Amino acid sequence: MRQKLIITIARAFCILGFFALNGWAEDNSKILKVDDNTTAYWIQDNAQEMLNPPKLFGEASEALFTQLNLTQGVPASMGTFLLKADGEYILFDTGLGKERGQFFTQLAKLGVSPDSIKKIYITHMHLDHIGGLVSGGKKNFKNATLYISQVEFDAWTKELPNNDLQKEVAKVYKGNINLFKFGDTLPHQILAMDAAGHTPGHTVFQKGNLLIVGDLMHGYALQISHPEINSNYDKDKENSIKARRYFLDYAQKNKLTMGGMHFPAPGFQKNW
Ligand SMILES: [Zn+2]
Repeated sequence: MRQKLIITIARAFCILGFFALNGWAEDNSKILKVDDNTTAYWIQDNAQEMLNPPKLFGEASEALFTQLNLTQGVPASMGTFLLKADGEYILFDTGLGKERGQFFTQLAKLGVSPDSIKKIYITHMHLDHIGGLVSGGKKNFKNATLYISQVEFDAWTKELPNNDLQKEVAKVYKGNINLFKFGDTLPHQILAMDAAGHTPGHTVFQKGNLLIVGDLMHGYALQISHPEINSNYDKDKENSIKARRYFLDYAQKNKLTMGGMHFPAPGFQKNW
């Protein structure tokens, strides 16, 4: 009888512990302590739950989706990262924009005004990453300097088609765009690395133990075990695979936490 009671009490504590731990994870997993001076926040731009459909990964077989239990689609999101570094808020990408995403509402909930942001690091110039920079031909971040890879900027402003938004960003932020080379260390000790493939100047940024991987992966649960599979959005297939393999290996070897713009909630993943 006494033993039964002890087991019951122990069970109750286990259940309580489980919920407490889950609650803790839920509240804190969107926030990552990068180092003593830096905290990273994942900001979700999509309002509804998001599954990327199997047809987005045209190179993968139906059998593989069945095997991985992903026939309904691969859990994903649209997101950006806000860092508080050296007492200052900085951004990595800006989401779809005021009309289409919830990024600005989420930013306000964190008590951060767009005017207080002085630096924005851009992984690449697709709509879901730079849409938030402008509204109606005007800057949404009055005091910000943009950091964009020279290769990416040149590709969109000179060669690539359907570049109205990219040209608008270039015009509106003229004089406040810093074009970097791969390998450069940018303000706040942020290292910009070559992840070309998805777009010509796609960039991965490292800050301490955080690796912002941009659009390296559109289906984490699929591509973590199959980095050789591209999404249909990846422009240069061969280099996309190369970059994915390289940075997954780099994150693992250096014990870095990855932040991906299309990772499922909570936006951060570790592969070690
Ligand atoms: Zn994207």
